[in-house]
Amino acid sequence: MVYIFGVGEVPISIVSDPTDPELLDHTIRVVGRTTAALEKLKEGDTVGLRGPYGSRWPLEDFKGKDVIIVTGGLGCAPAVSVINYIVKRRDDYGALKILHGIKTPKDLLYRDRFRAWRRIPNTEVSLTVDHPDRQWKYNVGVVTNLFNQVRIDYQNSVVMMCGPETMMKYAVRGLLSQGMSEGRIYLSLERNMKCAIGFCGHCQFGPSFICKEGPVFRYDRIKPWLEIREV
Ligand SMILES: Cc1cc2nc3c(=O)[nH]c(=O)nc-3n(C[C@H](O)[C@H](O)[C@H](O)COP(=O)(O)OP(=O)(O)OC[C@H]3O[C@@H](n4cnc5c(N)ncnc54)[C@H](O)[C@@H]3O)c2cc1C
Repeated sequence: MVYIFGVGEVPISIVSDPTDPELLDHTIRVVGRTTAALEKLKEGDTVGLRGPYGSRWPLEDFKGKDVIIVTGGLGCAPAVSVINYIVKRRDDYGALKILHGIKTPKDLLYRDRFRAWRRIPNTEVSLTVDHPDRQWKYNVGVVTNLFNQVRIDYQNSVVMMCGPETMMKYAVRGLLSQGMSEGRIYLSLERNMKCAIGFCGHCQFGPSFICKEGPVFRYDRIKPWLEIREV
């Protein structure tokens, strides 16, 4: 939780490696009051920090498996942390496949990082946009279309996804229809949250608080709630 004194406090993902004691890296999109104040900070200014809170991607358990990262829109900071982590420990994991969908080419954040990841052995990057421009040289269409183009070993893969909830719902359906099992899919969910310690109830999601039991959930544990609109 990142706090700007006198303005507000917002939940922000950690993008840097959890084992790096020197760096706490965030990518922040300006949407409103607090994030706009964050943008105005100068070197040497002070912010408040609480945390870290919530669940993590269980990356230790995925060693030896292929990892499929499915992301949509701008909200892919939690996925970047996963990719950074795996890239640093490349031999511990099988194939790494990054499938990323955005609306237009100008929405592509981390352009240099995607380019660099593409060059790493046993790593595939597939990008797709809804509305291409003339320079766009990758796929066109929604991110779920990529499932037909990328070879996925459904018996030895885990999927981690984040992005708009509608995109994630369709992506889950697509993966299940191709043979992926429910227990191998993990999602990072977003809700407005305030206290971050399971007290205030702002981020309630069915029987869970996203700040405490989430934001990362295994699909089969939240499936009934994900199906209900506006839970
Ligand atoms: C677990 C978690 C991790 C997050 N990680 C990141 C991150 O790494 N980087 C990052 O930039 N953001 C992240 N967010 C989103 C971030 O917390 C919000 O963008 C922020 O709280 C907005 O605060 P604000 O005061 O700037 O905007 P407000 O003044 O509160 O809102 C301004 C406008 O933005 C809309 N808005 C508020 N929250 C969101 C949201 N979550 N998504 C889309 N629109 C929103 C509001 O509805 C309103 O229209 C995360 C959210 C969660 C729950």
